[in-house]
Amino acid sequence: MRKIQMVDLKGQYEIIKETVNESVIEVIESTAFINGPRVHEFQKNLEEYLGVKHVIPCANGTDALQIAMMGLGLKPGDEVITADFTFAATVEVIALLGLTPVLVDVEPDTFNIDVEAIKKAITPNTKAIVPVHLFGQCANMDAIMEIANEHNLFVIEDNAQAIGATYTSADGKKTKAGAIGHVASTSFFPSKNLGCYGDGGAIFTNDDDLAHTIRGIVNHGMYVRYHHDVVGVNSRLDSIQAAVLGAKLPRLDAYNNARKLAASKYDKAFEGIENIVTPFRNGGDDNHVFHQYTLKVRNTDRDALAKFLNDNGIPCGVYYPIPLHNQKAYKDERYNEADFTVTNQLVKEVISLPMHTELDDEQIEFITTKVIEFVNG
Ligand SMILES: *Cc1c(COP(=O)(O)O)cnc(C)c1O
Repeated sequence: MRKIQMVDLKGQYEIIKETVNESVIEVIESTAFINGPRVHEFQKNLEEYLGVKHVIPCANGTDALQIAMMGLGLKPGDEVITADFTFAATVEVIALLGLTPVLVDVEPDTFNIDVEAIKKAITPNTKAIVPVHLFGQCANMDAIMEIANEHNLFVIEDNAQAIGATYTSADGKKTKAGAIGHVASTSFFPSKNLGCYGDGGAIFTNDDDLAHTIRGIVNHGMYVRYHHDVVGVNSRLDSIQAAVLGAKLPRLDAYNNARKLAASKYDKAFEGIENIVTPFRNGGDDNHVFHQYTLKVRNTDRDALAKFLNDNGIPCGVYYPIPLHNQKAYKDERYNEADFTVTNQLVKEVISLPMHTELDDEQIEFITTKVIEFVNG
């Protein structure tokens, strides 16, 4: 059996090596390292793929979130509601901009932000909601957009984990993740579903004015060369990363399908195992792109399971072990433990298994056998 990896970047590279090498060398030979034609080409292709009017490439997914919030003109004191159970980047940029983060609980089945909890957290100072499409599946966007419209709030989708995922609205309309809110961010960190070979990110929007504002912000607040109209940042996707992404974007659906297939094989193997809860799919089997395949284990010492798997050569991850409201940097007297019962439980139960485009049947069989062996004691 091939060695099991949490993410198999090498195996994936071997298959696309020729295309990637050719495009990267072309960038080097052209010396168009910054804002070269590859960046523009990738931007256009991603706009078409997602069905959004504007993609603005930037340096990473954290910058993308920050720039989206700057573009919306959010000001210190504005409250921004986001999920307690996510990667810290989301709350980090809210805090960094002097905005007030308002963390709320998530749903026990999808792990995504809880709509009732959002409603409870809204105050006259609330300006935005940041749903994170965690592990590859969209948050409840119908309800979130409805609340946002009712209260005149911005919706910023953190789409770092769900590029290529679909959202099916109650009326049957299908939209790509990141094309629903006022603005969205994504990350091309190597292990993400569409990853480059370094850092990269992008902002998406259908709003022409906002896109214009953001294009200036990523470039030192310049709309006319050496005229700085707003405080900006320097955040660019470099041409070499755009060349890698250009080679991978046409394969994104195939990559996501490979993840879905691996997920369904995992599901099947765990069927009927009492203390294992397999991932819930919201609105259609096809919507979830499995950035992570995350189980909940009951009546099981999750950390001991993780150790057992590691000892057997099976890498695994706990995303996330600590609720954000309990992180030193983000603790706040306003928070009440009773409002975070779901997150507080999830951090004890979740375990993510290897998930990538190169998992084979033998590996899945070995992984699932070992998990079941431990959970069944
Ligand atoms: C990865 C990730 C980010 C940050 O992306 P970087 O490119 O690493 O800055 C933000 N939000 C979520 C939910 C992520 O998973």
